[in-house]
Amino acid sequence: MSGPLDRRRVVVTGALGGIGTAVTARLLADGAQVLAVDRPDVVRQHREPGPPGLHVAGVDLRDPRAPTEIAGQALERLGGLDALVNNAGIELRASLPDHDDERWDAVLDVNLRAPFRLARDLADLLAAGRSPAVVNVCSIAVTGFAGQVAYDASKGGLLTLTRSLAVELGPRGVRANAVCPGFIDTPMLDEGELRSIAERVARTLPLRRLGRPDDVAGAISWLLGEDSGYVTGQSLFIDGGMNRQ
Ligand code: NAD
Repeated sequence: MSGPLDRRRVVVTGALGGIGTAVTARLLADGAQVLAVDRPDVVRQHREPGPPGLHVAGVDLRDPRAPTEIAGQALERLGGLDALVNNAGIELRASLPDHDDERWDAVLDVNLRAPFRLARDLADLLAAGRSPAVVNVCSIAVTGFAGQVAYDASKGGLLTLTRSLAVELGPRGVRANAVCPGFIDTPMLDEGELRSIAERVARTLPLRRLGRPDDVAGAISWLLGEDSGYVTGQSLFIDGGMNRQ
């Protein structure tokens, strides 16, 4: 299918979650081929045959072998790689004393270590691709919220990783940008009391509503396409006007 992302070969992580599903659908509609990566147990429950251009892979991103597995599947099923969307993430609502090392490690592994490993290990494949681009899904949480220090730190780290990748990989033609969603209506809001906080905050926002996964998907598609070809190292807040800096 032709479109702004005509035949671009894209890996999307966390692709079967709320935002990932919308991103994958949008990229396919815009003409991309997508390797949709999610946890093996989540992929096993996802039985529908997908549309043309969609390939689904069950990979646990906490596994150090994940980048090798994803690179192999991208080569075999897509024939190469032009773009990477680091979208998988986990939230942890807990007080500071309840952030034990195990929970900290789980959040940092998925939200920061996995994007780092994928960027490091897929860089050569991306650099050989067509108009290569990375988009990292950060969060409004980079501004710092109470009750989620691991999550906030992981997303702050991911934002800085994005800027470093833009500088490191720019000379090889690879762009790297971040999106920072505000409160988006997905299953992630069901962690702790997050949904009630999100709904309360949404009523005070300039746009007076929660975000929708499609709000994020459109921005990611633009950041992967030729229309943003001179944009790198940037962060785009998709938050109904919450952050105005
Ligand atoms: P979600 O929980 O619906 O989706 C997250 C996906 O990541 C799930 O499909 C999950 O299976 C996958 N995942 C988690 N651990 C994994 C692992 N070890 N290996 C492979 N896949 C794994 O959440 P969402 O709201 O769609 O979030 C997507 C991204 O957007 C996340 O990075 C999240 O931090 C970010 N974000 C969400 C919001 C929001 O309000 N929903 C706000 C800001 C940022």
